Amino acid sequence: MNLCDIHEIKPLLARHGFHFSRSMGQNFLIDPAVPQAIAEASGADETAGVLEIGPGIGALTVQLAQRGARVVAVELDAALLPVLAETLAEYPNVEVVPGDIMKLNLEALVAERFGGLTPIVCANLPYNITTPVLTRLLESGLFASVTVMIQREVARRICAAPGSGDYGAFTLLCQYHAGCEPLFEVEPECFLPAPKVTSQVVRMTRLDEPPVAVTDEGLLFQVIRASFAQRRKKLLNGLASAFRGRATKEELADILRACGYEENVRGEELSLAQFAAISEALAGR
Ligand code: SAH
Repeated sequence: MNLCDIHEIKPLLARHGFHFSRSMGQNFLIDPAVPQAIAEASGADETAGVLEIGPGIGALTVQLAQRGARVVAVELDAALLPVLAETLAEYPNVEVVPGDIMKLNLEALVAERFGGLTPIVCANLPYNITTPVLTRLLESGLFASVTVMIQREVARRICAAPGSGDYGAFTLLCQYHAGCEPLFEVEPECFLPAPKVTSQVVRMTRLDEPPVAVTDEGLLFQVIRASFAQRRKKLLNGLASAFRGRATKEELADILRACGYEENVRGEELSLAQFAAISEALAGR
């Protein structure tokens, strides 16, 4: 069965009495070239254990399975389970796990299902949970790479450089954990139903070591979040309100000065290394 042919998908879904859910971010791929290209970009092969999030009816799942990978596909919508049982019946290397990716124990899943394999993620993500899912996946440190289709706007934030409008706390979180590459864009017409936004595939490859060495990772991200909490405001003010009770505005101004920054520097201008320097100065106080 061709899982990207709407003349086959529509009767299949009708037979199972399936209705699309907006709240679950359901947009299924109907251009066969796209799932093939995403699977290829992930590098999935027989040495990989692939976690797929939201298989839908299995368009991408089948591509991953055909590359010889062991695939575990986590699907939240119970209404899709009987559909997947049908569309994936001929692939013994695929297991569908019912559930919510945000609640699943990823460590246990990887340990139990991907022994001896390189764990990676490949998915056309439900767009309503893109940032929390990616945060969870990257912070877990479990996956050698994460290749996902997301909204182009979020892809740009992930891959942004300091000084650009797309640059922010999420950029730094992603780039702290992974090398982030923007890949191809995908137009709304490639999906059923068509989403309102253009999509893009990004590949995030886990870094062997963090790009900056800090004594307190939690503190680094507190500094980063505080610096972007009030966009367009001065970095000093953001830090002062976030660290109230722990450091005075004067102390923070001294730290910024010692790091070589003007009082009116803005968070958007600083690189990860520069945030690390501020964090170290705060930690060593
Ligand atoms: N991969 C398919 C479908 C993508 S649509 C394709 O490319 O055609 C997003 C999918 O994620 C849907 O199947 C939706 O039901 C599922 N989903 C939504 N929220 C989820 C969650 N929290 N955990 C797991 N799957 C989820």
